[in-house]
Amino acid sequence: MLTAMGDVMRRAYDKGWITTRDGNISLCRKNSGIMYITPSGWRKTILHPEHIMKVKITPAGCRILSKNPDIKPSGELDMHLLLQRYNKSCRAVVHLHPTNIIAAIYAGWNMQSLAAEFPEVSRYTRVGPTVPILPVTSQELATATFKAMTNSSSNIVIYDIVGQANHGVCAIGDNPWDAYEHIERLEHIAEIALRSGIKPRELEI
Ligand SMILES: [Zn+2]
Repeated sequence: MLTAMGDVMRRAYDKGWITTRDGNISLCRKNSGIMYITPSGWRKTILHPEHIMKVKITPAGCRILSKNPDIKPSGELDMHLLLQRYNKSCRAVVHLHPTNIIAAIYAGWNMQSLAAEFPEVSRYTRVGPTVPILPVTSQELATATFKAMTNSSSNIVIYDIVGQANHGVCAIGDNPWDAYEHIERLEHIAEIALRSGIKPRELEI
């Protein structure tokens, strides 16, 4: 599955959903307490298993287990830690910058309402509320994304994907490709909505 982390990033780059150093993925195996995460600023077109960082999730945050001092975990480490910390099963968290989703949110589309209108999405992908504009790599973005994904006080993730205004998306799946599929479905209907020329019926943000 570490290979899939690089493969998903290469596909996202080919699709134009990230520029070469953008985006990040984490992966936790079942009950391991260990998180694998993409390195900060790495060119995603040359991302392979030996570049993936290994961290131990601790009560206060995490401890880096990888030995290479030249690489650091993704700047969105806090977001990944929050979304992985309370989970016991195998889980991948994927953060990308898909063009049409960002454009649709920018145009005022409510992604949750839009997804509900398209059965190809609503049947397989639970779309959460969009996270407002917040600084990238910030604790505020991490917390707001976690709250949007859980939407409750239970720490249990109830959505597969949320948009992040003027920035990107965060998606969760059992493996990197499952999370990627949620992004692909939402990106598809975002493009349809934009191409339709119809104005958003309600302004989300
Ligand atoms: Zn980002």
